[in-house]
Amino acid sequence: MEKHDLIVIGMGPAGMAVTAMAANMDLDVLAIEKHKVGGECLNYGCVPSKALLKAGEVTSVAQNLEKYGVKATGKPVIEDPLKIVRNKVEHISGGKTMKAFDRAKLIIDQGQAKFVDKKVVEVAGEKYTADKIFIATGTEPLIPPIPGLKDVPRLTNFNLFEQEEIPATLTIIGGGAIGSEMAQAFARLGSKVNMFQIDDHLIPTGDEEAGRVLENKFKEEGIGVFNNTGINKVEEKDDKIITHTDAGVFESDKILVATGRKLNFDSLQLDNTGVEYGKGGIKVNNQLESSTKGVYAVGDCNGKAMLSHAAMHQGMIALMNAINPTPFKKFKNNEFIVPWSVFTDPEVAQAGLTEKEANEKGLDYQIVKEKYEDYGRAITDGKTEGFVKIITNSKGKIYGATIVGEQASELIHEWILAIQHNLSMFDIMMTQHSFPTISLMNKRVAEKWMMNKTDSGMIPKLAKKFI
Ligand SMILES: Cc1cc2nc3c(=O)[nH]c(=O)nc-3n(C[C@H](O)[C@H](O)[C@H](O)COP(=O)(O)OP(=O)(O)OC[C@H]3O[C@@H](n4cnc5c(N)ncnc54)[C@H](O)[C@@H]3O)c2cc1C
Repeated sequence: MEKHDLIVIGMGPAGMAVTAMAANMDLDVLAIEKHKVGGECLNYGCVPSKALLKAGEVTSVAQNLEKYGVKATGKPVIEDPLKIVRNKVEHISGGKTMKAFDRAKLIIDQGQAKFVDKKVVEVAGEKYTADKIFIATGTEPLIPPIPGLKDVPRLTNFNLFEQEEIPATLTIIGGGAIGSEMAQAFARLGSKVNMFQIDDHLIPTGDEEAGRVLENKFKEEGIGVFNNTGINKVEEKDDKIITHTDAGVFESDKILVATGRKLNFDSLQLDNTGVEYGKGGIKVNNQLESSTKGVYAVGDCNGKAMLSHAAMHQGMIALMNAINPTPFKKFKNNEFIVPWSVFTDPEVAQAGLTEKEANEKGLDYQIVKEKYEDYGRAITDGKTEGFVKIITNSKGKIYGATIVGEQASELIHEWILAIQHNLSMFDIMMTQHSFPTISLMNKRVAEKWMMNKTDSGMIPKLAKKFI
């Protein structure tokens, strides 16, 4: 039986991170992927969805040139946006991505890996063993138990980007990140989109006010947003999808299901290993090791974050823990802030606690908010929707940041750094930011926090005395 230093099962962001880093350290790595390198993120998730959003954005700008003072004729359209998306995915998954794995042994598209016991993995009829095994098998789309949904042709992120054309009408179930991103992309590319969800605002895990900003923009762009709306039945009639909802009956060419993720470990045969798992994923300790020593579970399969950057980060720290003999120096997963971003226009981003979470924890907090419409650069760019909202306290401790607006996904990083490294509002205020960047919104909100302190109490009195 072939023996390796480590075996990685699944080559999405988590498995790729482990494989590339371990191979770079000259460890003998075997990586097994049942389908395509890149996993969900590269092939059916982050990358194609962002490419489609870009095609939608370009179309939207081209169709609204008057807004920018440009006289335009006709209605520009991108001929085949889905083909452009596929070409971009192919380009990214080609040479450069694969180069990172030159020093690893890869078994790709030869079937699923399964455990024979806690040290032995089998794929394509061959058995392999290693001292350390990393499970990085991700998730599948969840299809909710809506009557009829399983019987109609439906889209999920797995087949969405393989479509030949943009449907004239599209129903989306789900108002989270994937549902919202795809609603806007398809609407901008010409679909009439109606989206339905049982939650009461878009991006329900995030801040309600931010969700409302996005909803207003969606409605402006002609997207039907139906919150608090149950779906009672879905059926197919004359090549159309008929969706029966609490808000009425809707007909569309296609239906996209974006209602979350499902964990499925049947093929791995985990019961041969002693690795404990449940509906929430493979159980791991704070060092990302499972209940079986030497077997780690990283990325979506442990149910902790369901985000690519978290998957890669987990891969990195689990590997560092696996090669580190000193127990007191291990990296702990919960020491790292996990931000998230939704790449709609306007973008939504979150680090740390939302206002609602701060409330539920009973924290003594204050909210400081800066609106995009009050900042010159946002006005010059015509990007005035949204705000930066910081959950802080009188000492400037930062509990959380919610940003909805232009470049929110970039602005959020300063707050991640601040929260993770215990920097305060004062530290942000005392950091120069280039003018007129959108990032300066971060400093402006910190200045506002300071101004709130200095407009009453001791500081004005002292200033008057010592001037
Ligand atoms: C439409 C969409 C958009 C998204 N956008 C973003 C985004 O913008 N930002 C973000 O952070 N996240 C985004 N995500 C989430 C992101 O894709 C996942 O969090 C990420 O892919 C998880 O990485 P992973 O390595 O844990 O698993 P995956 O990427 O799911 O990879 C798991 C791999 O394991 C393989 N595998 C499974 N079982 C076996 C087996 N038995 N043997 C061999 N191989 C196996 C699978 O084929 C797969 O390639 C998006 C998801 C979707 C669906």
